[in-house]
Amino acid sequence: MNAISTYDVVVIGGGPSGATAADDLARQGHSVLLLDRAGRTKPCGGAIPPRLIKDFDIPDHLLVAHARAARMISPSDQKVDMPIEGGFVGMVTRDSFDEFLRERAASHGAHRRVGTFTELSRDADGTSVVHYNARPNGTSRATGDSSGTPTRVRARAVIGCDGARSEVARLAIPDAHKTRYVFAYHEILRKPENPGPDYDPDRCDVYYRGTLSPDFYGWVFPHGDTLSVGTGSADKGFSLRGAVGDLRQAAGLGNAEVLRREGAPIPMKPLPHWDNGRDIVVAGDAAGVVAPASGEGIYYAMACGRMAADAIHTFLETGDARVLRRPRKQFMKEHGLVFWVLGIMQLFWYSNDKRRERFVSICRDKDVQKLTFDSYMNKKLERKRPMAHVRIFFKDMAHLLGLARV
Ligand SMILES: Cc1cc2nc3c(=O)[nH]c(=O)nc-3n(C[C@H](O)[C@H](O)[C@H](O)COP(=O)(O)OP(=O)(O)OC[C@H]3O[C@@H](n4cnc5c(N)ncnc54)[C@H](O)[C@@H]3O)c2cc1C
Repeated sequence: MNAISTYDVVVIGGGPSGATAADDLARQGHSVLLLDRAGRTKPCGGAIPPRLIKDFDIPDHLLVAHARAARMISPSDQKVDMPIEGGFVGMVTRDSFDEFLRERAASHGAHRRVGTFTELSRDADGTSVVHYNARPNGTSRATGDSSGTPTRVRARAVIGCDGARSEVARLAIPDAHKTRYVFAYHEILRKPENPGPDYDPDRCDVYYRGTLSPDFYGWVFPHGDTLSVGTGSADKGFSLRGAVGDLRQAAGLGNAEVLRREGAPIPMKPLPHWDNGRDIVVAGDAAGVVAPASGEGIYYAMACGRMAADAIHTFLETGDARVLRRPRKQFMKEHGLVFWVLGIMQLFWYSNDKRRERFVSICRDKDVQKLTFDSYMNKKLERKRPMAHVRIFFKDMAHLLGLARV
């Protein structure tokens, strides 16, 4: 029988969560294989908060735009500008961003392999064996092509970072099949020569309108020479393509050249379990960590990848599989409340146009603006200004009861 190589950790999926986990573990001196099927840029608006840039040392050259304001647009076309005082939302393009993260992991010793993960099994001694179809490094594949040379590798631990609808989660994690998804679709447009007076390259436009999404929102994000125009919905009967066509018209981008059309599912809720109780953990979209209401997932994927790497490091040092439960506990402790609040917000404010109209009105409020951006940028609920929370609570109540003017 051919001897197969053994790694401390095989990380399956080289997006933000997998590349972060691989980098952290390689820096700690573990032998790491980072497997990614490559060949497809992840469909993504590419908006990232300053906390991500700081925590994960993202160099400035990866930012193709700095958005310094958000414009909220209501069903009746009421426009509310929310300037981001003292900060910005960074914009990245996922091909160069993800590749930078993977290369950084490789520079610290992780072995990169191009290939499609297919199966998990166990050796006679119980060690996990990861099966994949290998392709030569540097080659790319057409979407959906999983061909290659069948290859096996042993792993003392496995981290599944293979995105929404994760195969690793499906094969190894209890109850993973119960997740629900929003499907998000966007078009990458070349920025027109004269995009019109209403266009601002430093502003993200967010459309709350039932015709553009019955349960989410539509967006126009600036990306330097290009734009991401997209929407999402959990309603399978809703035409996302049709809605993005309408959104382009509404934004004055009806004639802009379309460079790419692409979509992907976004998980709606963290999975109930992230580990198999033995040697496998999932992270990022594979674990379901995308913020409700906003669909923000890059920061959470990287934070989650780091927590998974930390737990796997302890597991490799101690052999105690109970530590594999730690990433979920830690994540929910740090972000569970924000996810819960955003989930309620989405359920309530995104449910009909009357409520969307009121929601956009609320965004006019300076306290709401400050708290929203502080929380987005720093990934913590702002606790320093208790009176602002009290004021927002009463204003929210007035809106809910219909006592405030729209
Ligand atoms: C249209 C759209 C817009 C979005 N906009 C934003 C935004 O503006 N800001 C934001 O923060 N989030 C956004 N998100 C969410 C964000 O893209 C994800 O949450 C984030 O990419 C999750 O990172 P990840 O590493 O967990 O998974 P992914 O980025 O999905 O990476 C998974 C990796 O696994 C690899 N893989 C998958 N299957 C296999 C396999 N069988 N074998 C080998 N490799 C495999 C893939 O090649 C990929 O590299 C958006 C999502 C969508 C769909």
